[in-house]
Amino acid sequence: MLNVTVWNENRHEQSSEEVRSVYPNGIHGAIADFLKEDYEVRTATLDEPEHGLSEAVLNNTDVLLWWGHIAHEEVSDEIVNRVHQRVLDGMGLIVLHSGHFSKIFKKLMGTGCDLKWREADEKERMWIVDPTHPIAEGLGEKIELEREEMYGEHFDIPAPDELVFVSWFEGGEVFRSGCTYKRGQGKVFYFRPGHETYPTYYHKDIQRVMKNAVAWAKPTTIPKPVYGNAKPLETIASK
Ligand code: ZN
Repeated sequence: MLNVTVWNENRHEQSSEEVRSVYPNGIHGAIADFLKEDYEVRTATLDEPEHGLSEAVLNNTDVLLWWGHIAHEEVSDEIVNRVHQRVLDGMGLIVLHSGHFSKIFKKLMGTGCDLKWREADEKERMWIVDPTHPIAEGLGEKIELEREEMYGEHFDIPAPDELVFVSWFEGGEVFRSGCTYKRGQGKVFYFRPGHETYPTYYHKDIQRVMKNAVAWAKPTTIPKPVYGNAKPLETIASK
């Protein structure tokens, strides 16, 4: 069974009664609850030693999920570098919602990762634009969320390797909501929904996407490529 670590900065939950009422066990707790149906799951949070992401934890993590918002700058560069190296070595990474501005996502993308946003209790209609993609398995042609935060284009990311979802918002904007990337041996998926004051992570289709994304992002079993100076496989004729 795949080992999954759900990382959350867990700060809104401590400061906001509204967020606690939606996610009494934290956003990480809500995500872990449904992922446990299919995977071996642990959680980790910002205020734990090493943010809960020790070498031992990361070395035993096949796929890491990342939710952060107001405390990106409090994540130490040492831990960001450690996560980055694990991704390059093959660990899957799923970056959620406001994690678009996390140090790890920006480092992996190499761009500013900025976007438009608005909190106006508006409808989000997320269209599946790649129905053959394993992350879209089991879904219909769209997912509707009655209330979400708006994220709008332009989203300052590199062109995704694959685009799985595009969102439309009631106010008129659109957004690339499901983007895949490969970095080194690792797979990265950015997934937009999940504002802290809405019950998005209880939505069955959102849960389906995240379960699918874990399966998609799991490390491959192929041996790590050998780099550097290479002996010829065949005799090279002298010329
Ligand atoms: Zn938000």
